[in-house]
Amino acid sequence: MDIDMLFLKECLARLLRTPSPTGYPREVMVVVEGILRELGITAGSPRKGGLLVRLPGYGRPLLATAHLDTLGGMVREIHSDGTLSFVRVGTYMMQSVEGENCTILTRKGPRFSGTIFTTEPSVHIYDEPAKLERKPANYRVLLDERVHKAEETQALGIQVGDFIALDPRTVFLPNGFVKSRHLDDKAGAACLLAVLQALKGETMHRAVSFYFTIYEEVGHGAAAGIPADVEEILSVDIGLVGQGQTSAETAVTICAKDAASPYDYDLTETLVRTAEARGIPYRLDVFPHYGSDADAALNAGHDLRAGLIGPGVFATHFYERTHEEGLQATARLLAALLLEGEGSSAT
Ligand SMILES: [Zn+2]
Repeated sequence: MDIDMLFLKECLARLLRTPSPTGYPREVMVVVEGILRELGITAGSPRKGGLLVRLPGYGRPLLATAHLDTLGGMVREIHSDGTLSFVRVGTYMMQSVEGENCTILTRKGPRFSGTIFTTEPSVHIYDEPAKLERKPANYRVLLDERVHKAEETQALGIQVGDFIALDPRTVFLPNGFVKSRHLDDKAGAACLLAVLQALKGETMHRAVSFYFTIYEEVGHGAAAGIPADVEEILSVDIGLVGQGQTSAETAVTICAKDAASPYDYDLTETLVRTAEARGIPYRLDVFPHYGSDADAALNAGHDLRAGLIGPGVFATHFYERTHEEGLQATARLLAALLLEGEGSSAT
């Protein structure tokens, strides 16, 4: 099964340039619905949002999931000098957004550009700015507007509770590297879309659902909305590249255990066997501080066998990097599982 990498990268670029901090899904859902429509696929939506695609097939029903929501922020306070404080949406180090461009998505409609700084952003002014504690209270958004008072910021239509989207700074390099914020998990979502495109007209050996969730970063993405007949869930989310990890940006990671739980033994074995049979570059890895939509589903009480695969990504929840070969390996493994996989338990 060939994956159309041009299509996958186009999908990834479209997803990455669409802001979708957790809790603000409307734009990215329109983008994904549009891509699905171009593929001739109609999606349903669980009550709490997200998109669910059900494909006909026989065999044990499997649900593949990726999340469309990303890290971001929300305006918490408008200060007397017109700057903003914010709370984090999702989990990240404050240092990872220091100096980052951002967009305030006002509930009234207009958008405003800004930059995230500490309260001591210049070495020419402050005595020891490097020693300032990197906690949320010491960060501000400086708006790129002529505002110097709270009332002037409010007059723009900015209010407490507005979402803040981080600039993804997406770069596709000619040698295959992809750098961007929010590869977690728009890389996974793009893989799902590329597999949906590749499967057109194929006879599936599994009854398959694709679930694009919108609350993964806050822990309850796939906790609801899973069709009752589904027996296996496969999260397609980032692999972790870094010290002590086996994952690589040029391979698909099959996760054996994350912070919450080991993944299903047989499903994990099926994934390994499938990758080996197809010559797909893969790594088995363990993720020490990590949870997934599969965990959310299990924690919510769903009776499922769970697995996790994804492209290796460096510097996760920071300015992330992966490689086209890792994206391709992930999409190939998912497609192979759906076309050839006999399910995890012997019958
Ligand atoms: Zn993720």
